[in-house]
Amino acid sequence: MADRLPLISGNWKMNHNHFEAIQTVQKLGYLLKETLASDPPVVEVTVHPPFTDLRSVQTTLESDDIGIGLGAQNCHFEPKGAFTGEVAPGMLAKLNVRYVIVGHSERRELFGETDEMVAAKVRAVLGAGMLPILCVGETLEEREAGATGEKVSGQVVAALTGLDPAQAGTVTIAYEPIWAIGTGRVATTEQAQEVCGDHVRATVRNLFGGEVADSVRVQYGGSVKADNAGELLAQPDIDGALVGGASLDADDFAALVAAALGA
Ligand code: PEP
Repeated sequence: MADRLPLISGNWKMNHNHFEAIQTVQKLGYLLKETLASDPPVVEVTVHPPFTDLRSVQTTLESDDIGIGLGAQNCHFEPKGAFTGEVAPGMLAKLNVRYVIVGHSERRELFGETDEMVAAKVRAVLGAGMLPILCVGETLEEREAGATGEKVSGQVVAALTGLDPAQAGTVTIAYEPIWAIGTGRVATTEQAQEVCGDHVRATVRNLFGGEVADSVRVQYGGSVKADNAGELLAQPDIDGALVGGASLDADDFAALVAAALGA
């Protein structure tokens, strides 16, 4: 199996104003100090605050020398223009944002993002020198109808087809069953591994070959907590986690990272 550095990402959604965000990253940085200082590195941890917090979190991470990566939750696919309320990829890159979540199910379901928009965003994020975390996942109805593989692989194909293979290898794909997000209902380790391996990584292999498939990191997301993170990340095709609720509190998130690493 390829040596992939685990990536654990905290998606804060519409939570924490900039004061709360600063406090949370300072505490998280303190709690994870030793883990993040490990040489060679054992994990990459990112936080994805709301847009209004990004500048404050950036300056805190940089001035306090905290080794947590800065992420965003979304962006537009155009570089600039008359798109009231939107944020361009280049604006995020200027804040030293490294990762951008693209196509989260809440964006797809609540804000009408289509596969075409998601594909354009993946390209725009890469074009601005950042790294997409592409979210894919099925509804409960789709799972019960036996359509999980088709839905997930279809979303991967729609977002990645036509990318330069070297760029494709830098994309992270988060498998997030919609029925497990924010519900406390977590996929079983077997279900999560099956989709991450047989549908996500296998689809990348079909599109780009084995080398790219081996370098792509696949996260699981959906009610990940300290008590299930270790088992999930021990799966051969699960290289990290995209975490909502349990990333809002620094103690919870630090405990989750420790558990994920088997500590
Ligand atoms: C998410 O929003 O990506 C997520 C996985 O949320 P939660 O961990 O709260 O289920």
